[in-house]
Amino acid sequence: MRASLRLCSLTFFVCGAMASWAMQRGGYELANNQVLMRLDANGRLTELTNRQTGHSYIATLGKAPWRIFYRLGTGYYRPGDAVDIEVAPDDQHASVRKEGSVLLIEYKSLIGQTAQRTETKELQVGLVLRVTLEGDQFTWTATIDNREPGIEVSEIWVPWLYGIGDLGLGPEADVLYWPEAAGRRIVNPRKVLAGTDRAASSLRMAYPWPASMQWFSLNNGHEGLYVGGHDKTLMTTCLNVMGHEGTSLSASIVKYPFVKAGETWTSEPSVVRLYRGGWHDAARFYRAWTRTWMPDPTPPEWIRRAPGWAHPALGRKSQSGHITGRYSDYPAMLRDARAIGLNTLIVFGWVKQGFDNRYPEYEPDEVMGGADELRKAVTEVERAGGRMILYTQGQLIDPTTDFYQTTGRGITAKTIWGYDYREQYAFFGSGTFLETMRNKHFGVACPSAPGWLQQLQSQFETVKGHNAQGIIFDQMGGRPPYICFDADHKHDRPSLANGPGKVANMRRLREVMKSRDPQFAFVIELVADCYTPWVDIIHAWGPGFFPAPDSYGALFRYTFPEAVITNRTGGPYDRKAQYGHAFTLGLRFDAATRDGQHPEVGPHLARLTELRNQHADLLLEGKFVDSEGFVCDNSRVTAHGFVAGNRLAVALWNPEETPQKAVVVAPGYKLKSALWQNPAWSGPDHTLMPGDVAVLIFSK
Ligand SMILES: [Zn+2]
Repeated sequence: MRASLRLCSLTFFVCGAMASWAMQRGGYELANNQVLMRLDANGRLTELTNRQTGHSYIATLGKAPWRIFYRLGTGYYRPGDAVDIEVAPDDQHASVRKEGSVLLIEYKSLIGQTAQRTETKELQVGLVLRVTLEGDQFTWTATIDNREPGIEVSEIWVPWLYGIGDLGLGPEADVLYWPEAAGRRIVNPRKVLAGTDRAASSLRMAYPWPASMQWFSLNNGHEGLYVGGHDKTLMTTCLNVMGHEGTSLSASIVKYPFVKAGETWTSEPSVVRLYRGGWHDAARFYRAWTRTWMPDPTPPEWIRRAPGWAHPALGRKSQSGHITGRYSDYPAMLRDARAIGLNTLIVFGWVKQGFDNRYPEYEPDEVMGGADELRKAVTEVERAGGRMILYTQGQLIDPTTDFYQTTGRGITAKTIWGYDYREQYAFFGSGTFLETMRNKHFGVACPSAPGWLQQLQSQFETVKGHNAQGIIFDQMGGRPPYICFDADHKHDRPSLANGPGKVANMRRLREVMKSRDPQFAFVIELVADCYTPWVDIIHAWGPGFFPAPDSYGALFRYTFPEAVITNRTGGPYDRKAQYGHAFTLGLRFDAATRDGQHPEVGPHLARLTELRNQHADLLLEGKFVDSEGFVCDNSRVTAHGFVAGNRLAVALWNPEETPQKAVVVAPGYKLKSALWQNPAWSGPDHTLMPGDVAVLIFSK
């Protein structure tokens, strides 16, 4: 009897908290004991409160929580069409109502601008926003019902949270965790986005890539606002944060549905969370959602335990056709790599065409030794216990090739204007000709186009035929997720061409490769979370993978610690600093055999790989836990943790120009050993010299 009474009172408490939203103060509330959202009678957002902390986040007059843009016409742009025409949310008449536990903001039709800029017209386009509350999360979806002939609804921001003030500790305490590549940490984003032009007042990037994940968070160390696209379809999406007159921010998840006349479309969910704690909490929340549909990566053991790879100094041909060495140099290059602790060579520009020329043609070069010498050299590396990964392109197509003229033109992703998306990669040397006449363009394959997967499989066959142990598909994990308007490609929508097409291709390629050789390495360039399950190594590029003031590689590494990812040089070209940064983050070294010849970098890197090779179970296979489980008393020293079983390794790096002392305490653990840049040192009481690393190993 007592138990049942307690159950009743608990139920009453929960229901009472959940159902407290109602029409109040001429508006509507959606609230429980953790969070509250308030809209006015016309559907404008007027309050967003974290009831756990008592802080309200909306600081300026509310706006309707969406934006829409449409186009005149369908398919490729034709004379008389217009694109990017706005449907301004403030011009609309909303009806707000509740339906069960859902808040609905409904518009029977919309008033849009027209191509004649000073005019507006009523569009027979219905819009319904649904917001559901669960715990501290508001889940948003939008349904667009386009009954207007001759237009497509091209873009919707759902939600658009306008007028965000600080999170309760002042604007200086707020940090935007922004998943550009490995991540950026942007302190006081209101100040950063206080510029008057669009570039200075907005941060916006497409997912998948350069956004590596479809969430971001504003956090002050104690509480945060999470905004995430929870879209398993991988529709091309934009993460968008804007500054408004230096006083407030807006945040949105942008979709490009291109809803045709006669169509009704419902968005995948966007989730807004008002949470307590640091950004790790938001990262775990996002990861928990991805785990419901995305498997973990499964690279073979030799890759999980590889400290990095080296680009050989010899056996390469450049974009401008200059040759350095021969294929028969590869075994010597392996010996050079081993001198700095690395056992894998990755070769760009091994083909007759030279690097970045005539993709997708991949033929051995006679001057470098021809096909027989290539196979012999690769086989000799393998017999010596080394591995070789050969380069191919994952999406560029050179318009000068027969491939392009016969089938490639049909495979390229097409803009709304009807021609290829083009990318330019033009390298130049010491002369002025190539520098002043840079004009080297490639088309970009639409991954969903018929025939492209077969081409990628043929590249695997080519590389496997040379006996290599791995293939890299350059750019496959990124570049913009092009919205493709080629109607012959059969993708369901232009914005579903890229992400879903790449996943389908990678899954098939993995099946083919692993059925032939489970140890074969499937490598791609550029990091986006949705591709991590299907590949073995990701060759990185972008913020977070090199040291820089707002570089924050922990953001991706903490969220997806299982992915094997390299570092990538960028910013100030200090190789010691690049490797120190990579070492503490657990990024595999993207090194060069010539590093070993450098009097300072060579011994430095050799010690870093030695530490990794001796403690691979922790530093490479251990789970990256960022700063969790320990405290380092010196914030000028970079410190990240790796956990394996009951052991914790804390990797330290001193990026400063002065020696630093750091004391690390890990509650519940005992220090077992301390390893320093200087292998002769032991014990915890040493000073980190500029650029040096150390590893402290703890055990429970
Ligand atoms: Zn396409």
